Amino acid sequence: MSISASQPSQPTSDRDHSGKTVTDRLVEANAKYASAFTDPGMDARPVLKVAVVACMDARLDLHAALGLELGDCHTIRNAGGVVTDDIIRSLTISQRALGTRSVVLIHHTGCGLLNLTEDFRHEIEAEVGQRPAWAVEAFKDLDKDVRQSMQRVRTSPFLPHTDDVRGFVFDVTTGLLREIDPQR
Ligand SMILES: [Zn+2]
Repeated sequence: MSISASQPSQPTSDRDHSGKTVTDRLVEANAKYASAFTDPGMDARPVLKVAVVACMDARLDLHAALGLELGDCHTIRNAGGVVTDDIIRSLTISQRALGTRSVVLIHHTGCGLLNLTEDFRHEIEAEVGQRPAWAVEAFKDLDKDVRQSMQRVRTSPFLPHTDDVRGFVFDVTTGLLREIDPQR
């Protein structure tokens, strides 16, 4: 279902001068990638036994920012890096089936969710006639939201490993992480 019910006939993707969509470009890039690829022979279990939960923001290159290599970690991302039921689902599988023990939560400055409210959901309902089942999980205070996310992980009954859960705010202008004190 389209979110923009008012523009149902808009093209779904822009094309470049040679008529390619962005996905066409990705598929081409993949062919190049695969041509130089050698099977690393890795197991599905992350080498560093860590799961990183982060916002989907395009400016956040987790592997580069955290010095991670292929196979090191699970990366679980959504809008805001908010700990929703689906994030708990992924963390549960990560810990119980694939051996991770530590959780790192990363929100960031300039997050799109800072400008939204639950009105976003009401507006969609008014437009499409159906209320989304999910909460927007918008927030005004980054530090507070990181704390709430840490709390949700720590108190989840499904997660066996909740002793090493740390939360950070990534500054998109400096590339630096700032750790959030869970107790404040
Ligand atoms: Zn964000």
